[in-house]
Amino acid sequence: MKYRVRMATADEVHELEFRDYSAITAIFTCPTWGVIRYALQRRPKGMGREMPLEAGHAMHEVFAATRVWNLINQQDKRVRGRAAMLRMWGEDKTADMLNMIGDGSTAARHQFVNHALYTSGFYDNPYDKRRTMTNLETATHLYVRMAEKQNPVWFDPVRPSVVGIEQPFHCVLETLGRYPKRYGFYGKIDGIEQTKKSVVKLAENKTTYRIDDPFRYSFDTTHQITGYMAAARALYGVEIEDANVYALSIPLPKSHVEGYARIPVKRTPDQFDEWAYWFIEGTKLYDKYAGINGAKRAPMYTHSCSRFFRSCSLLPLCATPKKEWKAFFKETMMEHKWDPTQEQEEIAGS
Ligand code: SF4
Repeated sequence: MKYRVRMATADEVHELEFRDYSAITAIFTCPTWGVIRYALQRRPKGMGREMPLEAGHAMHEVFAATRVWNLINQQDKRVRGRAAMLRMWGEDKTADMLNMIGDGSTAARHQFVNHALYTSGFYDNPYDKRRTMTNLETATHLYVRMAEKQNPVWFDPVRPSVVGIEQPFHCVLETLGRYPKRYGFYGKIDGIEQTKKSVVKLAENKTTYRIDDPFRYSFDTTHQITGYMAAARALYGVEIEDANVYALSIPLPKSHVEGYARIPVKRTPDQFDEWAYWFIEGTKLYDKYAGINGAKRAPMYTHSCSRFFRSCSLLPLCATPKKEWKAFFKETMMEHKWDPTQEQEEIAGS
């Protein structure tokens, strides 16, 4: 299959349907679940807060603030740092945080990064003892210290606003040949960095319960990393085939330093092709069943009804006869928007 990945045009952003890594993963996990959660954007009422999502979002504010801090204080690029802050946080928060930089001391750094955490909107949930503000703060302290050794933030030498921090993207995966087809692909890149030898790498942050071998090995193949590299190539016109995944445990283990890891990964041309094929096939499956009638026809992958040691939240619906779904939907489901350019989900949660 011949294809290319390119930035979406402004018209395409409005006209084309875009899918993200989470939606395609959900479709392959269980088409019924994928369609209801992502195409119909519904979830059961009374499910409570989505703490992995909320904690993931809060910590991504920390990761972005840490990159901005390093860009301004280690790389001496205040103008570019400010441009990134304005794009992410707007005038008021940017002004507040720039005032905190002061002499660039360690104390100022903690104040700067903690401010990003405190203004993220996260607050404690009495039913979740793991994802607490205290645990997020403790993990933040370790992260900013370890991030001193991360590669410098990449920025475009010509376009001042293009800085490799929290870059949302809309790309098009386009098959080539007699009957070309376009598949919209969107998401958000955590970071782009550059080594001293000018090798540009993707930087991806993950919060997780534990950093063990299965967690580390998962990045050897995950399509998320490959797809984000493909997007970064298309967006910035740079060659990227390496990534650093920065993992952080929430809460930190007893030995705090074991709660942080840099996981280097590489991608081959074959893996880019595998990602493209996976994305296209997933999008076809998604489109086949999108909509309420489609959801009723979608195959139920019951081997996925219990995953990560939890029952799927749609079990009550799936155990109900299809003819009662309409009423069930009305009474028990609520709208729940998903936007990958805004959200970051914790992985390997249990
Ligand atoms: S309960 Fe099972 S069949 Fe139903 S959506 Fe969830 S995983 Fe799919």
